[in-house]
Amino acid sequence: MIDLHTHTTASDGTLSPRQLVQAAAAVGLSAIAVTDHDTTAGLEEALDEAGPSGVRVVPGVEISIEFRGPRVGGRPGWLHLLAYFLPAGGLLAGKLERLQRWRRERNGLMVEKLRRLGMDITLEQVAALSGGGQVGRPHFARALLEAGYVDNLQQAFDRYLKKGAAAYVDKQRLTIDQALQLVREDGAVAVLAHPFSLGLGDEELSERLARWRWLGLAGMEVEYPEHDSDLRRRLHRLAAHHQLVATGGSDFHGTNKDGIELGRGHDGNISVPDEVLAELERRR
Ligand code: AMP
Ligand code: FE
Ligand code: FE
Ligand code: ZN
Repeated sequence: MIDLHTHTTASDGTLSPRQLVQAAAAVGLSAIAVTDHDTTAGLEEALDEAGPSGVRVVPGVEISIEFRGPRVGGRPGWLHLLAYFLPAGGLLAGKLERLQRWRRERNGLMVEKLRRLGMDITLEQVAALSGGGQVGRPHFARALLEAGYVDNLQQAFDRYLKKGAAAYVDKQRLTIDQALQLVREDGAVAVLAHPFSLGLGDEELSERLARWRWLGLAGMEVEYPEHDSDLRRRLHRLAAHHQLVATGGSDFHGTNKDGIELGRGHDGNISVPDEVLAELERRR
């Protein structure tokens, strides 16, 4: 069995890349893809551990894509694209690195806005809450809570941090066209992550898939802890219709996402056979 969707301390997981690969070996997985949010910073360490652990490590990333869709569970729908078989020093990695630099700039600007609103918050304080990984609004929310400026994390978002609020600064994201083009040019493979998060009905999703398939999309995550059996059945049908590989992964984040086990999801509600990875490889 394999797991094609995992996070490390390079983004918002709690295991280091090395620990993640060791954990995969411990639970008997034959391969994992390391897919941190918008960064390839953990890949070198994970690949370095592949040999000693006997686990195949697929270098990947989970890209946050510019998307406006219906609300899902109270927040705007979100579009994440998984990319696999990334070459070291590739175009996509370079582009993501430049976007990361903007992210750091953005964090500084958000601190300035909060300070102008009278809140005594520093970037050091916020960064200390990230455990060394990527710093973002969840850490700002925690800093505001710890300093007593809000009563809970949601209030921090609603008053200051949500899109359009007083301390919000826009993020820069790739469009799906840009991302799929970079994936193609890198000789990598793109897979739509957790399609439920788009908030689209089957028909709308199908229209998008037709277009994205044409731009090079190779697969779609079907086995995913938050997908119920009815959704999985519908997604399998859509995948077959568009000749997309039906893939899967746990979206493991260590203790940052409780109840999700590597390779097994929530109480074993996912299982992904090795054959899926072989199929993705054939799409390169
Ligand atoms: P960032 O990458 O810094 O823009 O932070 C994005 C993260 O902030 C998301 O993954 C959510 O966890 C959280 N987030 C964004 N918007 C909201 C919101 N309106 N309410 C609560 N959490 C949010
Ligand atoms: Fe995450
Ligand atoms: Fe995601
Ligand atoms: Zn993820």
